[in-house]
Amino acid sequence: MRLSRFYLPTLKETPKEAEIASHRLMLRAGMIRQSSAGIYSWLPLGFRVLRRIEQIVREEQDRAGAQEMLMPTIQPAEIWRESGRYDDYGPEMLRITDRHERELLYGPTNEEMITEIFAATARSYRDLPKMLYHIQWKFRDEVRPRFGVMRGREFLMKDCYSFDLDYEGAVRSYNKMFVSYLRTFARMGLKAIPMEADTGPIGGDLSHEFIVLAPTGESAVFCDRNCLDIDVLSEDIDYGDDGALAAIINRFTTLYARTEEKHDTAAFESRVAKDRRYEGRGIEVGQVFYFGTKYSKPMGAEVIGPDGQPATVEMGSYGIGVSRLVGAIIEASHDDAGIIWPDAVAPFDAEIINLRPGDEACDAACMEAYARLGAAGRDVLYDDRDERPGVKFADADLIGIPWRLVIGPRGIKDGKVELKRRDGTVADEVALSAALDRLATAPRG
Ligand code: ATP
Ligand code: MG
Repeated sequence: MRLSRFYLPTLKETPKEAEIASHRLMLRAGMIRQSSAGIYSWLPLGFRVLRRIEQIVREEQDRAGAQEMLMPTIQPAEIWRESGRYDDYGPEMLRITDRHERELLYGPTNEEMITEIFAATARSYRDLPKMLYHIQWKFRDEVRPRFGVMRGREFLMKDCYSFDLDYEGAVRSYNKMFVSYLRTFARMGLKAIPMEADTGPIGGDLSHEFIVLAPTGESAVFCDRNCLDIDVLSEDIDYGDDGALAAIINRFTTLYARTEEKHDTAAFESRVAKDRRYEGRGIEVGQVFYFGTKYSKPMGAEVIGPDGQPATVEMGSYGIGVSRLVGAIIEASHDDAGIIWPDAVAPFDAEIINLRPGDEACDAACMEAYARLGAAGRDVLYDDRDERPGVKFADADLIGIPWRLVIGPRGIKDGKVELKRRDGTVADEVALSAALDRLATAPRG
């Protein structure tokens, strides 16, 4: 993509309404535009990132054995009356009436809808287990939408639902999702720590929130810093191996990590050495939840069990804040000049900066680089604009593409270009061909 043609409405001034770095940077980098409070349009640069995040989530859900589907955003009030949540949900739910005076709502979550589908279609224990998910926009009329896409009113969520015959089966599904979450966030370059979370009135200890530690986070959390050192990507995971899943989960759950609601100061202090204690804030990027028959019972989701008797299915639900993740990643990875995208979610793999458009040698070298990297399957942004180098560098820092290839008249006379990483790990003067070899084969995360 040539930057001269790309729709990238960057801002020079820091928008006043933005209180935290990710919100400021997303607005300044032309990733989003607010439509009304907590509701955003995703401009091309932002949408590219959103799609890459969504794709990682999808791949890891599929790998864990979940199946993708798509449910509507608009739901009938009736199914929420069946579960008993229509009145409980309160003003966060956007309620709508259609021309026939039928009561509808914009879905804040989909437990009722998936349970209704399952209740109407599942017959026998042979239909179990199942894990079904979709990635769909939700609406919650938050009292205080803020921090840009972090706490929006309309936001993109991946929500998965599991159906099992009994408690043991439900735990197995829970564990699969738990491990798939570890992999999902790690692939995005995030350290998301599973923390024991409140299960509300249903009780039980089966809920974890996945939290990215960040001073701007909205959740108060307490954990052992050793959680940050556990590697979850280096080994291949067999989702059919219950023992292996439990072993990975144990590495985390044996360490203290709890949200405020579950925090116990005495236990924290006795289990975690002083220098390893993290007491601070975090961003909830996902949650896994076992809730048994809370919805399946009132909504009649039963199957005929192996004994010939009807059995109410055991369920869990598993959410990931896909759009919130864009903000969370920026909170975790930026500097004063702008965003520093991890390779796996970057809007482009590399940016070519032409320091003197119109100069024959510069233009030719840039076009060669652009063509070669494109042929190697790389997404490249080519800054061919007629702008001063300072402007180009500032924009490149702001939008944060991982690799940068700078081509200028002085270097190109000797066949040399500058190859840099936005994260500061590489800054080399090299031959153009060497730079291209390196970029064409660099890991995409
Ligand atoms: P929170 O405590 O932040 O309000 P929640 O616990 O109510 O979130 P869940 O129902 O668990 O949210 O939703 C699953 C995921 O969706 C959350 O872990 C979070 O990442 C994301 N999410 C929830 N509310 C919002 C929102 N208003 N804007 C953006 N993402 C959200
Ligand atoms: Mg939650």
